[in-house]
Amino acid sequence: MPLSKAQLLAWFGKLDTVYAAQKEYLTALDAAIGDADHGINMNRGYGKVMEKLPDVADKDIGTILKTVGMTLMSSVGGASGPLYGTFWMKAGMLFGGKEELGAADFARLVAAGVDGILQRGRPARGDKTMYDFWAPVLDVVNARAAAGDDVAAMVAAALPVGEQALADTIPLQARKGRASYLGERSIGHQDPGATSSCYMLQTLRDVLG
Ligand code: ADP
Ligand code: MG
Repeated sequence: MPLSKAQLLAWFGKLDTVYAAQKEYLTALDAAIGDADHGINMNRGYGKVMEKLPDVADKDIGTILKTVGMTLMSSVGGASGPLYGTFWMKAGMLFGGKEELGAADFARLVAAGVDGILQRGRPARGDKTMYDFWAPVLDVVNARAAAGDDVAAMVAAALPVGEQALADTIPLQARKGRASYLGERSIGHQDPGATSSCYMLQTLRDVLG
């Protein structure tokens, strides 16, 4: 089954709910190794996205994703606004005129989004960032797309790998962003941005399930 526009919009709506519910938790994670604003940032960003989405809900998927990206870019301060903003803007550039996303499209969405994170933040694997979640997820998505999985099966296969990768950020020492200022004291804490990224995939699983 392809990912319909209605499911895509439901994904953003659910993400807004999740970021509101997890605002304090994400901020507590960021308090440990950053400046205690990640939950506030995500909550504010998706609140703005929900204000903007009704204007473009009947437009093509490319326009919807680019609107999400531009809204996050302009409303979220800190590192995560430009990173997630670029994720969705890069993905949106692929889907002008599209009304639904097939399995191959979904794999291209994830690849373009992760490429946006790489271009913006220049993270490497093991730097203790959101890229540590996305790099193995992208590997699974690409492998499952090549094997002919549909979107739901791809997400189901990628999620446990991503959840493990999220837990695996705990022992890492941060080498990018504010957390890197802490040096070895960043060890022993889960990365906030990898956590908010994991919510993206968990929420999509819930929308598709
Ligand atoms: P800030 O660090 O500016 O306060 P946030 O707290 O909203 O911004 O986001 C912090 C998250 O951003 C980190 O947990 C990490 O996952 C991600 N991040 C920071 N710098 C980079 C980078 N250069 N590349 C990829 N991700 C990064
Ligand atoms: Mg922060």
